[in-house]
Amino acid sequence: MADRSTRSLPPSTPTPAEDLLDALGPIKGFHDTSHLGAFGMPSGAMTEDMLAGEAVASQATRFGPLEKVHAFWFAGMSCDGCSVAATGATNPSVESMMLGAHPGIPRVILHHPVINIESGPHYLRPAEEAIEGTLGAPYVVILEGSIADEVVAHAAGGYWSATGEEPWGADGELRPVSSTEWIARLAPNAAAMIAIGTCATWGGVPSAEGNPTGAMSLMDFLGKDYRSVLGVPVVNVPGCPPVGDNFTETVAAVLYFLQGFGPLPEFDELGRPAWLFGETVHRRCVRGAYYEEGTFAQEFGDPECLVEIGCWGPVVNCNITSRGAVKGIGGCMNAGGACIGCTMPGFPDKFTPFYKRPPGSLASTTVSRMVGSIIRPLRKFSNNNLNREARWDRQGAAPSAFSREKYEPSPLADVGHRFYDKMRRASDTARGDAAVWGKRPDEAPSGGRPRTHT
Ligand code: SF4
Ligand code: SF4
Repeated sequence: MADRSTRSLPPSTPTPAEDLLDALGPIKGFHDTSHLGAFGMPSGAMTEDMLAGEAVASQATRFGPLEKVHAFWFAGMSCDGCSVAATGATNPSVESMMLGAHPGIPRVILHHPVINIESGPHYLRPAEEAIEGTLGAPYVVILEGSIADEVVAHAAGGYWSATGEEPWGADGELRPVSSTEWIARLAPNAAAMIAIGTCATWGGVPSAEGNPTGAMSLMDFLGKDYRSVLGVPVVNVPGCPPVGDNFTETVAAVLYFLQGFGPLPEFDELGRPAWLFGETVHRRCVRGAYYEEGTFAQEFGDPECLVEIGCWGPVVNCNITSRGAVKGIGGCMNAGGACIGCTMPGFPDKFTPFYKRPPGSLASTTVSRMVGSIIRPLRKFSNNNLNREARWDRQGAAPSAFSREKYEPSPLADVGHRFYDKMRRASDTARGDAAVWGKRPDEAPSGGRPRTHT
């Protein structure tokens, strides 16, 4: 069988999702939960029922036709890091969306294998209803982890990653249902398909060179013509793991759209939220000024720009330095880590070996070093002057015991500062009548005494 990860797909070629459904055939029926009793859940409690008392939106808060939206979370070839990232989000938080706490956003009925309290067939029943068309509310599907090529596994009599069992085997036997199969069956009637994390958005680590699974992204699986029932292409929130707030904010924006508040938010040509991934991470990096001044870290722990020890930030779309990792805090370069491009479609193969200088950085760092060797002393010169009160210039000394070891500006430096002040004040329309503060004594209308050098 051809390797789907490398062959190109002309428009008429069936998508991998269609290939899989062809290989598996139609489903034969669902669990009869009326005979299951308390299978795996002696308390009999369902998450939706448990939260309903607190969460049901009223007419006064929902501001739209939808009271609730189901969100089915599936994990493919995944490490569960995206679940950790999403549950750590704060703006908005998963809990607040499950509780319908945001006016205008329908409450989210989340079906997540780690968060929900129901288990077994009771956990799977809403997904069955979504396939049957009896769910009674719109649904979105969220995928973490990449899509394994289950056609290959099926042909060998196995599967790569599964979520539960259904009576879809020969003669109604129970068989494990791959996450890939759930996605293929749920996608046609979903209100939106959302990929979280780089494995789901672009294939990520499981699709790296040498992988045996044919791992691919949700976009690759559903094909470029995929649209949800509301006309939405696959939405991608990349990152390994992604910033949790990037994900929940995007979900909230899509839910506002589903509720009828305005158009679909702006996504770029790859389905990324354009307002979050439109800039390179370098442009907001806390170490950017070091790059500009041509000073570079030589080992981790140094405060300067990390490009020479492997940072790809100048060519990577990411917002973690401005948004932070969790609750606005942390994030790679903020915390000392170099960017390895984890949000990018080319990750990881186009960024390896990690923590080696990107070859293309040599030209720009050489120029930065040359310019910086001139700019840094000039800035230091002005910085020295700006670290002095105008009063100290007149008095000729800074009155701090800490400055005992600090020399006053030399006569040459002082002439330079005066020259700089003249340039600065050339456009000062308040000159003359203004108070003396901030002016050199020889330009002040009155007061001040000539400075002396010690
Ligand atoms: S650490 Fe990376 S992102 Fe930050 S300034 Fe240096 S190259 Fe740019
Ligand atoms: S800075 Fe680089 S490594 Fe860090 S999250 Fe962004 S893309 Fe990933």
